[in-house]
Amino acid sequence: MEDYHIHSNFSPDSNSTVEEIIQVAREKGIGHIIITDHFELADQHANEIDVETYRKVMERYSLPVGVELGWDGIKELNVDTSKFDYVLLSHHFVEEPITQESYKNYLLRILDIMERFDGYHALAHLDFPRRYHPSKEPFSLELFDIIAEILNKVIRNGKILEVNMSSFKLYNEPNPSLEILKLYRSLGGRNIVIGSDAHDAQHVGRYVLEGIEMLKSIGYNYILVFDMEWREVKI
Ligand SMILES: [Zn+2]
Ligand SMILES: [Zn+2]
Repeated sequence: MEDYHIHSNFSPDSNSTVEEIIQVAREKGIGHIIITDHFELADQHANEIDVETYRKVMERYSLPVGVELGWDGIKELNVDTSKFDYVLLSHHFVEEPITQESYKNYLLRILDIMERFDGYHALAHLDFPRRYHPSKEPFSLELFDIIAEILNKVIRNGKILEVNMSSFKLYNEPNPSLEILKLYRSLGGRNIVIGSDAHDAQHVGRYVLEGIEMLKSIGYNYILVFDMEWREVKI
């Protein structure tokens, strides 16, 4: 079992210490964790990690050095992402009101960001704005051409698609949705990691098993784990 999306108190929206996270992971039998604190360049939730301090803490616990790099595509990207073992690329800007039109604009911004920036490993929570839609409406099929373009870029550029389980409590599906995961598979997408997006140590590993079951149900047999090198493990 793995959880590759966890926030500690290096993020402004979590109070959990690295020790607490490791403790819970041990209790729940989660063998592979990566803490991915926010390095957020967007204006509203800006957070800059002191990379040297952060690295030292992760190394003290023999954890890979992960980060969730949030970029709005506007602010200057002044981060040397080679200092991290695992860079999860995120885009958190969601236009209001949340409609299929704003979903489309979100996807177009992701596409633009992927064209201009390559220093990451995995693309986080692809259909993220759905979490905030009043009735949690899925992305419409009309948007699947743009989604396919994004997924093809993930595949061609050797990136990983993250399956983020934080939305499961809201509408019983991960980010991205099962339909999008099926499309990824049909395009030849293979690289997948899974994460809870826990902002509290108690939530480490939450819904990861459900996510693995869902992946299996649509034909996935492997996910990726990182031991200083990426490798596939059977699920
Ligand atoms: Zn995020
Ligand atoms: Zn996160």
